[in-house]
Amino acid sequence: MKSTAHAFSAHARAALQDQSLQAALGRVSGGFADKRREAVAALPEFDALRARAREIKEHTLAHLDFYLERYEERVVAGGGHVHWARTPQEASRIVVEICQRAAAKRVTKGKSMVGEEMSLNEALESEGMDVVETDLGEYIIQLAQEPPSHIIAPAVHKTRRQISELFRAHHQNYGLPERASDVAAIVNEARDVLREAFVSADVGITGANFLVAQTGSNVLVTNEGNGDLTSSLPRVHIVTAGIEKVLPTLEDVAVFLRLLGRSATGQEMSAYTTLFTGPRRGGEPEGPTQYHVVLLDNGRSALLGNEFHEMLRCIRCGACLNHCPVYGAVGGHAYGWVYQGPMGSVLTPLMVGLREASDLPNACTMNGRCREVCPMSIPLPTMLRRLRMREFEQKLTGARVRWALAAWAFLAARPALYRHLTGAVAWGLAALAGRRGRLRRLPFAGGWTAGRDMPAPAGRSFMRQWRRRGMQ
Ligand code: SF4
Repeated sequence: MKSTAHAFSAHARAALQDQSLQAALGRVSGGFADKRREAVAALPEFDALRARAREIKEHTLAHLDFYLERYEERVVAGGGHVHWARTPQEASRIVVEICQRAAAKRVTKGKSMVGEEMSLNEALESEGMDVVETDLGEYIIQLAQEPPSHIIAPAVHKTRRQISELFRAHHQNYGLPERASDVAAIVNEARDVLREAFVSADVGITGANFLVAQTGSNVLVTNEGNGDLTSSLPRVHIVTAGIEKVLPTLEDVAVFLRLLGRSATGQEMSAYTTLFTGPRRGGEPEGPTQYHVVLLDNGRSALLGNEFHEMLRCIRCGACLNHCPVYGAVGGHAYGWVYQGPMGSVLTPLMVGLREASDLPNACTMNGRCREVCPMSIPLPTMLRRLRMREFEQKLTGARVRWALAAWAFLAARPALYRHLTGAVAWGLAALAGRRGRLRRLPFAGGWTAGRDMPAPAGRSFMRQWRRRGMQ
């Protein structure tokens, strides 16, 4: 997917004016957060599981080469093939060639964020293949020709009315002229259309939630069962995954499954958890005859052991998005690439470059909720601060901000002058606010009062009030 992360500010401004988007965001993100809270409260050992998952992941990352090689051995022993790709372009070329060798005309796909990194749909379509997304959310945005706006709910930005209109516009060829307007009818309509795609596909492509080194299995978690039909009906099954998805054993996977559903949608478990271990074996009547796994690096190995290493623990649950006030206000498209919200604000600059995505580390209020709810305890705010520091060091920060930071650093190193000046500013603002006690406009900082009045400062600085109360 081509990045437009450099235009975050413009996207965010447009998103705030988009009434349909605001209605869709208001309804859905709150729901996920409430359900997560209830699910976590009902599982007393949630924090213990979280600590165990972190341990498992850190151990695996410390021995990543070992576990990946072990995984490859098991896949090959089961009759499958493993392909290694450094870049998204390399990975999509590998997938296209497998499809071409299979003389594929139609390809079905399950949801895969790595597939988005690879721009896989575009690559397959440019070679004349018919690509059908089978996850309902992905199918909706494919019809709308839009990228996903949430890593677990790709069409979360769409209202029911918009989806109903989209289906009416695209499904008339299937003999479905009536507009479906309630949720059940919309889902049934998609099911009718997708059923034909499932049985006629030559190749099925899915992502992977986890890869198991012990058995060479790929663990896929969905709520719709579309991943199972995508992988088991076509002649060829291709799995696309990032190299950090590997876990040592099936027992380890069980720990992560208990965290994933609860953190993502508030479910104890997602509806379908399937393990795929190679193509059909001799004598089996069904299943793919070819099984390929394409493992993508795309900058992941460069993170091992550096200051962003902990990001490799991410299991793409989406909890940080669901609890982020910035994501909740502007939605996922504003972030301009595959990943959104706090995890996207860290990953996108690391994968597409800090210069391209320099706004993202600043699209954060540092409230810390993402860190609190992350099942893998990833210190997202700390990493966003590190990215800001990198921006400053690489002179990507704007002149005004650099000037302001330099002035602040100068003052902070001179406490007496700092206290004197901040005291004077607080007094000045209080005087400006007068009896109203609120400021309608701020000199040099109009953005703070563009949407609401600002309460006037107390008139004296915190330090001065502290001293007056005899606390120092
Ligand atoms: S950073 Fe944490 S909360 Fe966000 S998607 Fe990854 S695992 Fe989930």
